[in-house]
Amino acid sequence: MTFSLSAASVRGILLDIEGSTTPIAFVHDVLFPFARERLKDCLRRNFSSEEVRGDVAKLREEHAADVELRLEPPPWVEDPLDAQRDSIVAYVHWLMDRDRKSTGLKSLQGKIWEEGYLSGELKGQVFPDVPPALQRWCQNGIDIRIFSSGSALAQKLLFAHTEAGDLTRFLRGYFDTTTGGKTALESYRRIAAQFRLPPPEILFVSDTTAELDAAKSAGMQALLCARPGNRPQPPGHGHRTIHSFSEII
Ligand SMILES: [Mg+2]
Repeated sequence: MTFSLSAASVRGILLDIEGSTTPIAFVHDVLFPFARERLKDCLRRNFSSEEVRGDVAKLREEHAADVELRLEPPPWVEDPLDAQRDSIVAYVHWLMDRDRKSTGLKSLQGKIWEEGYLSGELKGQVFPDVPPALQRWCQNGIDIRIFSSGSALAQKLLFAHTEAGDLTRFLRGYFDTTTGGKTALESYRRIAAQFRLPPPEILFVSDTTAELDAAKSAGMQALLCARPGNRPQPPGHGHRTIHSFSEII
C-alpha cells in the first residue's frame, strides 16, 4: 500500500527502531555479542576511570542483592585486581544471559558500543529503504524523531554510524524509556508535546501492535511495519501495514 503524508495531514513522523528501521537481529546477533566479547578488554583499559568505577560499584551492589536472593551468581572476587576483573566479566555475562536491564550493565555496554562505533568496527544497520525515505521526508519539511527502548545515546550512535553514513542530520529528536513505556498512552502525549504538534499530525511507525494501539489512543496516526524477521502480530489488529518506508510518500 502507499500512505500519503500530505493526504493524511502528517507533519511529524515518529519511528521505532527494532523491526522498523533496523533488523531485530542486529541487537541480538551484533550488539550483544560485541559487548560480550569486548567487555574484558574495555574493563582492563578503563578500570581506573571514574565512570567505570561507578559502573563497577553499581554491579557490586547488584551482585550482593543477587546473593541475598539466593540466585547464585558467579562469585565476586575483590583481590587481586586481575581476578576482580575476571569475576566482573563472569558476572556481567551472567546478567546478559538473563537479559537483566540494570543500570551498571547498560552503562558498560553503552561504553563498549560507543568505542566500537567510533573506531568503525561497529556499523549501525538500517534497512536499505530507510536512508532515502528519511531524506525525502526531511526535504518535505517533515519533523522525524525516534522512540526506542534502547537509550537515547545508543540510538544516536546507531544512526550516526550506519553503513549508509551519518543519518542524524535527518533526525530532530530521540525518546527512550525515560519518557515512558512504549505501550503507555502517556508516553505518546509527552512526545507529541515535544514535537509541538497536535497528535493527529504525527504518524507513528512500529512493528508492534501494542505500541501502535497506545499511540492511536493518544490521537496519533499509526502504521504497522512488517519486516523480515519480525515477530508475528495478533490477527485482526486493524492497523494498516507497510513492508518498506518507500510506501510512505
Ligand atoms: Mg520495534
